[in-house]
Amino acid sequence: MLFPSLSLVIALTLSSAVPPQPSESREGSQFDHVLIISIDGLRPEALEPPLVGQLPTLTRLLRGPHTLDARTDADFTITLPNHVAMLTGRPVDGPEGHGWKLNTDPPGATQGGTLHANRGFYVASVFDVAHDAGVSTMVAASKTKFWLLEQSYASKAAQPDRSEPDYGQPKIDVFVFAEAMRDVGHSVADRLRRASGPTLDFVHFAAPDIAGHSYDWIISSESKYFAAIRTVDAALAPILEAIDTTPALCGRTAIILTADHGGGVPRKTHTDATCPLNFRIPFLVWLGADAPASDLIALNPDRPRPARESRVARTDPAQPIRNADAGNLALSLLGLPPIPGSTYGNPRSLRLATPLQTQPEKLTP
Ligand SMILES: [Zn+2]
Repeated sequence: MLFPSLSLVIALTLSSAVPPQPSESREGSQFDHVLIISIDGLRPEALEPPLVGQLPTLTRLLRGPHTLDARTDADFTITLPNHVAMLTGRPVDGPEGHGWKLNTDPPGATQGGTLHANRGFYVASVFDVAHDAGVSTMVAASKTKFWLLEQSYASKAAQPDRSEPDYGQPKIDVFVFAEAMRDVGHSVADRLRRASGPTLDFVHFAAPDIAGHSYDWIISSESKYFAAIRTVDAALAPILEAIDTTPALCGRTAIILTADHGGGVPRKTHTDATCPLNFRIPFLVWLGADAPASDLIALNPDRPRPARESRVARTDPAQPIRNADAGNLALSLLGLPPIPGSTYGNPRSLRLATPLQTQPEKLTP
């Protein structure tokens, strides 16, 4: 543990004298605030009836384009490699892979504990693109291994901002580590309420994974695993409340919610990357208006709807919707270009509406 005596740590990076503000390149973008939320070890069955009836916040987040049949990385169903995939838009393995396969607390930044040192070149992230465009960024995580993100993007290891204005070298403005799910939720809600410009936040909830490792991934309203999902559902509530009650956020905030992996194979873990219980995950997009639910795969005909048993090889030209689509989708919602070097959602991120839905004015005579 990096913080043995603390359950909540907030690190502020004084990254720049320039306050975050909407950059000109974002003009016309629909959203000023985007959250990428990952619920560690969330199996899609927990979001199906009747269980989902006990999850009021997640029920609300299902009102929008979503699929309960997205995929993790093709080769890995463990935590840190999949989260790095979400934030870099890259697979774990292969020539375009981000290459981070460790799932423990990283070594120190000067002992190879950055994504760039490990890979041998700079691995850009969603934070680079957003921060260089004047978007304020945050990581709120509930496992200490996420310090890898701080070491890679909030320190001198990060690439300088070569565009004007210079928003500073560190790409993560606020880093929160909290063990209690409610602390994660409240820290994000507080920050959103205070935002004075556009924001991109990555939010990680560990509780279902921790319960799964102790008591197994039992899909039942009586299980400790499902109780942990209820805890996360409650922790999400203040975030939605902040969005609903803050005029600058309401209608201008989008949420992408997914998971790093499912779980249950082998028992009490999720390391078998060939098992659907581990590689099937939800992928939800909430566009701030409680829109009718729609099928995210149907909206993206270039993305196959995989058979339940199919994880789809990393080298397959037609890739299913994966958690690694989250980063570039978040950037496109903010009106920003994709992550350099990314492969998922680049050059075009996921489509969230049919062409008719995106141009309703054309229906009016
Ligand atoms: Zn785990």
